[in-house]
Amino acid sequence: MEKVTASSFFMRILMEGIKEMVFVVKVDEADSFTYDFFNQAVLEKTGLTPDAIGKAFSEVCPEEMANFLYEKYKEVIETKKKTSYEDSFYSKENRLLYSETLLTPLYDETGKCTHIVSLVKDITNEKRAKLESAKIHDRLAERSASYQSLFDSNASAIFTLDFNGRIMGGNSASLELSGYVREELLEENFVRFVSVEDQNRAKEHFQLSKLGEIKDERLQIANKSGQLISCLVKFIAIKVKGTITGFYMVAKNMTELDEISRLYKAGEENFQIIAENVHDVIVLMDEHRQYLYISPSSENIFGFKADSVLQKKDYYQIHADDIHRVGDSFDHAAKNSTTFREQLRLLHKNRGWIWIEVAGTPVFGKDNKFNHMVIVARDISIQKEYENQLKHFAYIDALTELPNRRYFQEYATERLEMGKESRKKLALLILDIDDFKQINDQWGHEVGDGVIQQFGQRLNRCMHGQDIAARLGGDEFIVLLTEVESEEQVTKITDVIYQAMKMPISVQELSFEISISMGITMAPEEGISISTMMKRADLAMYKAKRQEKNSFHVSLA
Ligand code: GH3
Ligand code: MG
Repeated sequence: MEKVTASSFFMRILMEGIKEMVFVVKVDEADSFTYDFFNQAVLEKTGLTPDAIGKAFSEVCPEEMANFLYEKYKEVIETKKKTSYEDSFYSKENRLLYSETLLTPLYDETGKCTHIVSLVKDITNEKRAKLESAKIHDRLAERSASYQSLFDSNASAIFTLDFNGRIMGGNSASLELSGYVREELLEENFVRFVSVEDQNRAKEHFQLSKLGEIKDERLQIANKSGQLISCLVKFIAIKVKGTITGFYMVAKNMTELDEISRLYKAGEENFQIIAENVHDVIVLMDEHRQYLYISPSSENIFGFKADSVLQKKDYYQIHADDIHRVGDSFDHAAKNSTTFREQLRLLHKNRGWIWIEVAGTPVFGKDNKFNHMVIVARDISIQKEYENQLKHFAYIDALTELPNRRYFQEYATERLEMGKESRKKLALLILDIDDFKQINDQWGHEVGDGVIQQFGQRLNRCMHGQDIAARLGGDEFIVLLTEVESEEQVTKITDVIYQAMKMPISVQELSFEISISMGITMAPEEGISISTMMKRADLAMYKAKRQEKNSFHVSLA
């Protein structure tokens, strides 16, 4: 409880120092109010003059205003509480001014309200600004109404912002994106809905847009449930008569596009690969070996349309014998972040089985988790054919088309290994034509070749099952007998061979009777190698030749 005991100092402050209008109104009996004091500001801003002091509202104000004031002051007396109200009035210069008035009751020692202090704050500027912006937003609403359908049906979220970035509205996509209802967004600064780490960038971007720099910026919008949604955000100025009054904030949800580009782009190298390998087929497979992408070149190279393969199960049209190996390589590469290269057979739509080579490069996501495999596949059937030819040449004797020494050694070694398990024995026979040089010398090399050729063919016809005959070189051949159970069995086969060679060999209308010498080795002991066996057979053959041609010698040791 205070009483007005205004010192002259206090009076001066009230009078001149305070720029707000101050009235002190005396509360008389029967609740009549008379002006007791007002300051310089009142004199300046209103039409009141010092002679209003001591007079009632009704004596100095228009009736309507006097009644209004009376009601307000009475309310303070009755409620014994401060009260405030907004009002408007015309200044001396006939300007409409807005005010906010605070009425405070003052009491004497007995608790009786003797005075009411009225502090009138000029809020004209604030009020004007508010009304102006309301008008602008009405105009905005009008403008947006004309673009309503474009705005509403836009797939991108569009928020309308005022010049300070406060949200004034938004289309349905904006509500969908943010997860908020309209009321929760209104009047909030858009920055509030940007992820914390992007907020500074968002503010900068907004400022730059104010300066006319319109560009897209990646910002994460935090929706109501706290999810961060990566958006491409653009602020488009809303101009009314050349003045920017607000902005459209267009936010395009990039989640889906990001996902697609993550899958299909995965860095520029992939595009590089694609660009450089138009004749190759690019295949993207995810961790479940699902086809994600197959380049259109598939049709040219494999005969089937890329789209038709996308729905197919993994390893579509790949040879059953190759699937396991390729699958292992795929998994290994994905796990160890290495590349892989495999050759495999693929069933071409029209050409049947073709050889292809695939080179796989794993691509990892942000979390370093394997995401997908970029596979470059190419048709290598021509190369493969050539390779096969080379292989053929490498293992086949060109003159007789029988296996050569290299093939024989590999094959016999393999059989020897297998024999260890099955306890089956091998026998080697080395055969050499007797006095072959004479044929060469007498009839020439070509005729000699003919004889060797025919000899080889006859020898080959004596082979059965897993047994093979090979040409070691010159007029020297070798036979591998597998599954040998006894010496007699070997003797039987040597007899068959001798019989086969008894018939004269005809070359270029010439007829040659030849004889052969043979060295045989059999019943190999454990740990023996094929080369050792061949040496033994060779020695046995030479022994046979030395003793008597057209014979055979058996080496058991
Ligand atoms: P031997 O009774 O001791 O076996 O005497 P040979 O005359 O048969 O002579 P040998 O087996 O030691 O040598 C084989 C000869 O075969 C040596 C070489 O002049 C000849 N020769 C080697 N390769 C070829 C070939 O590809 N074509 C022809 N026509 N002759 C070859
Ligand atoms: Mg010979």
